[in-house]
Amino acid sequence: MPGMQDVATYKFCPQCGGRLEKRLLKPMEPRRLVCTVCGFIFYLDPKLSVIAVIPMDEGVVMVRRAINPGYGLWVVPGGFVDLGEVVEDALVRETQEETLLTVRPIRLLNIYSYPDHRTVIAAYVTEYVSGELAAGDETLEARVFGFKEIPWPQIAFSSTQEALREYISER
Ligand SMILES: [Zn+2]
Repeated sequence: MPGMQDVATYKFCPQCGGRLEKRLLKPMEPRRLVCTVCGFIFYLDPKLSVIAVIPMDEGVVMVRRAINPGYGLWVVPGGFVDLGEVVEDALVRETQEETLLTVRPIRLLNIYSYPDHRTVIAAYVTEYVSGELAAGDETLEARVFGFKEIPWPQIAFSSTQEALREYISER
């Protein structure tokens, strides 16, 4: 997932190509990147990601990542919400891409955010609708782990750990 460093180093205005500089615009807010030519304010916003808890066969669907960060580690399916995309649609799309399963969102489990991390993660509980579980895009392997077999030390992201812990504790 993109880190803060990737976005904090932008040098040029996307509107006019002028040089950006950091300026304090409001005392309670972080310094903003402001264009020294046209005054454009380049707000560095969080990115929204969605993840799916998919209960199946007395366990939960997990995928092993084929990309960095977290190559070779396990997560629940998910990914970034595109600009203009309905959040639940992104959840269904990302799950389809990574697991070849169609799911239906049931409820929001929780939202996770971390200091100095650009990505905010919305976790949903979903239910299986159709499809055969298999590794799709950006995925080395897709399988169901029983609730007692979850590979906690091999999980890539805190959000997957927290979402699974919360889901399991609520069962
Ligand atoms: Zn500019």
